[in-house]
Amino acid sequence: MTPRQGDTTVPAATTEVESHTPLPRLTRRVFHDLAIWMVGLGLLTGLVFPPFVLLLGLPAERVLEPTFFSATLGAGLLVGALNFWLARSVVGARLELLRGRMAEIEETVRRVVELGDASGCDPDACRMQVDSDDELGAVAEAFNALVEALAASHRVNDVDRRMGALLAAHLDLTILAREVLQELGRSFEAEASALCLERDGELVAVAAQGLVDADSVATSDPVRVAYREGRTLRIAVPSDLLVDAGVTHFRPRSVLVLPLELRGVRLGALLVASSKEIDEESERLLGRLLPHMAVAIHNALGHERLQRVAARDALTGVYNRRYGMERLAKEFERAVRSSEPLGLLLFDIDRFKAINDSHGHLVGDRVLVSVARCAQRSLREGDVLVRYGGEEFLAILPGAGHADISVIGERIRSIVSEERIEAPMPQVTVSVGGASYPAVTAADVDELLRAADQALYLAKAAGRDRVVMADPVLRAAS
Ligand code: GH3
Ligand code: MG
Ligand code: MG
Repeated sequence: MTPRQGDTTVPAATTEVESHTPLPRLTRRVFHDLAIWMVGLGLLTGLVFPPFVLLLGLPAERVLEPTFFSATLGAGLLVGALNFWLARSVVGARLELLRGRMAEIEETVRRVVELGDASGCDPDACRMQVDSDDELGAVAEAFNALVEALAASHRVNDVDRRMGALLAAHLDLTILAREVLQELGRSFEAEASALCLERDGELVAVAAQGLVDADSVATSDPVRVAYREGRTLRIAVPSDLLVDAGVTHFRPRSVLVLPLELRGVRLGALLVASSKEIDEESERLLGRLLPHMAVAIHNALGHERLQRVAARDALTGVYNRRYGMERLAKEFERAVRSSEPLGLLLFDIDRFKAINDSHGHLVGDRVLVSVARCAQRSLREGDVLVRYGGEEFLAILPGAGHADISVIGERIRSIVSEERIEAPMPQVTVSVGGASYPAVTAADVDELLRAADQALYLAKAAGRDRVVMADPVLRAAS
């Protein structure tokens, strides 16, 4: 896993700095200082040389001659100048090389930042070659460390910004969870991940990627422990250990399971697995993102709950008419697009007014709940049961053709009529009208509904407690 800077507090540099007592600065340029020191040293040598050779026994009239004195001074000056030239050629040239490379790297980093893609800063493009074991080598190393620290901090900001934007952008839990996992895959090179949330006392995977069986991961021990104990679990998989390819499509090297909680309320756990090592920096960064994820997930859960409540009928718990009509429009569009059938069953409790009148409204309400339950039992998952009006229900059955809804309509009718009803609730029956698209060639959803309504009317007119199907050949009359 690519190293990611996980914390804005960068640890103090541990490079040892050798300290030298510097000579006093004479000018603002180091090579000018060097020139002055070296020429000065040459002159000093030229001055000291004649007395020195006097001591060695050279005749004074020879040594104290102006030409000899000038020659030693000149020689001293020349040596000083040569020294300076050598130092400038050896050190100056290398410093110039360093400066040139730093400028190149600076240019690359600028481009990378502008494009917003840190991957352009690969080691070749953004690293200084450290080819000497001296102060200049140390400067190159320090520069490399600085670039790495900057790149890491840039990546952290990038992940923070992207994650922040997507957490704020989605209220729908499924979309939010999917986007979060995709972002984790991008930012942390996590080939597999799962977002597990607590639902009715069970941990379930609301989104997963790269996992063979997300449901079994959601109920696995590490996820349960992270959730229950509120602590992060790190599972390092030794490279020589062959993991059965039953859980992920690759061989994970490290797995992190992080608890998701908000203000002490446990929400679930996040699992991140990678075929590379998930380093501590990444773990820290993930840990910092967790509270933000928890807030977004909490909001999405609230939104989901609100939507569920807003879509349901308070008495019977089945979908209400507003939701039912929206859903019906969508299902009809889908049926037209995919040429799949769409069945409708409209059913109404027979002589319900009389039940209310003789047993009271409370008993009437209980009958409504009981009929809704019977109908729900007759339907498959994916079918939508709607309280269409007072004691009238609509079942939307995607994929159900003419023959299917005839059977299901009959099942609803018979289950209701055979339902053992506790006293004081009276035995009730329902009349059912069915219509299925495209057997009934409705041009729009209203036509299909009208066809089912006419069939229900016919069922009532024919004596109630029966199922009538809309004529599949004739177009529903307006
Ligand atoms: P039919 O067999 O022709 O359908 O006769 P019906 O008596 O069922 O038909 P009608 O439409 O005349 O009566 C429907 C009754 O349902 C009238 C209304 O008071 C009652 N109703 C509607 N909503 C509720 C409800 O939420 N609770 C109760 N208890 N009664 C309701
Ligand atoms: Mg009725
Ligand atoms: Mg009615």
